[in-house]
Amino acid sequence: MAETSQLTPEALVPRLGDYLVEKGLIQPEDLEKALAYQTDQRSKGENPRIGQVLVALGFVDQGTLEQSITEQIISLRNALTDANAQLEKRVQQRTAMLEKALGKLNELNVMKSNFVANISHELRTPLTHMVGYLELLRDEDLGPISTEQKSALMVMTTSAQRLEKLINDLILFSSSESGQMALQISTQDFCTVIAAVVDKNRSKAKEQQLDLIFHYPAFPIFVDIDEEKIAWVLEELLVNAIKFTPDGGQIQVILELQDQFARVAVKDNGIGIPEEKIGDVFEPFHQLDGSSSRHYGGTGLGLNLAQKILDAHGTTFQVESEPSKGSEFSFLLPIVNSGTK
Ligand code: ADP
Repeated sequence: MAETSQLTPEALVPRLGDYLVEKGLIQPEDLEKALAYQTDQRSKGENPRIGQVLVALGFVDQGTLEQSITEQIISLRNALTDANAQLEKRVQQRTAMLEKALGKLNELNVMKSNFVANISHELRTPLTHMVGYLELLRDEDLGPISTEQKSALMVMTTSAQRLEKLINDLILFSSSESGQMALQISTQDFCTVIAAVVDKNRSKAKEQQLDLIFHYPAFPIFVDIDEEKIAWVLEELLVNAIKFTPDGGQIQVILELQDQFARVAVKDNGIGIPEEKIGDVFEPFHQLDGSSSRHYGGTGLGLNLAQKILDAHGTTFQVESEPSKGSEFSFLLPIVNSGTK
């Protein structure tokens, strides 16, 4: 038989022989004979389709075969259309479910951010009262106190200040989570902004016998910044430098010009960060070593927030660090003409 497995409409129809039997167009024995013939042909290297074998053996005529194939193709096409419609419906249902879940998730995320922001504000109010009364007690405005009482009040004040910082970090974190960070930009003398942060941390550095040096140029450098937020970033870098530098070490804060940019760097000779971990320090709640949180304290939010503040100013951190040698965190800000102030 010359008919081989060429592409004929029959190729589209599975189990054509069974269909012809079901329709009563051929007898089951006819099909068996045709299948046997087909097997025989295959062993000779031919590959005739069953329909053509049935025609060749005279069990069915060509017209009936073509009619049956057409019927089968039509019914397959209808089944395919139905399956597609069902699939389409299921995709729509699943998409709607996913959209609903996503909406719920966004809602929950906003709720979480609002909750953190609200609770942080609520925590701040009683803390402010406590800090106020601590100050009155310490200054002996409410009567004389002993040296022991004074030192106990100092410890309480330090803890209250830490708590205040943690709460402020949480407020900033939740507000940065719930959308774009809003900046209040003004032109500032950068040296003055940095000097204020350095001065604020002098006593802390002194407690650890750390040498804290601020290098700055003889001329003013003006930058457009959200003063409060950039001061917060600098404070974060300085507090980290103090925290992660052993007693007797050195911390340098450097302000310098680099082309059209002001470059500020906070450099310490402390414990340093392994190169492969430098990227990790910007992850929220990330502290390099689980035990360091117990040893050094902190939330692991500082650098993440600091990076968000720098992002909002269109700049980013450069970090150089080596274990046991120290770290340098720096960033650039474009300088502006002081005449715009
Ligand atoms: P926190 O200081 O509250 O732990 P940060 O986000 O400020 O959180 O810092 C994340 C981590 O990065 C710190 O826990 C510390 O492991 C590492 N790190 C930050 N600054 C320094 C530094 N100057 N020297 C060494 N490690 C640092």
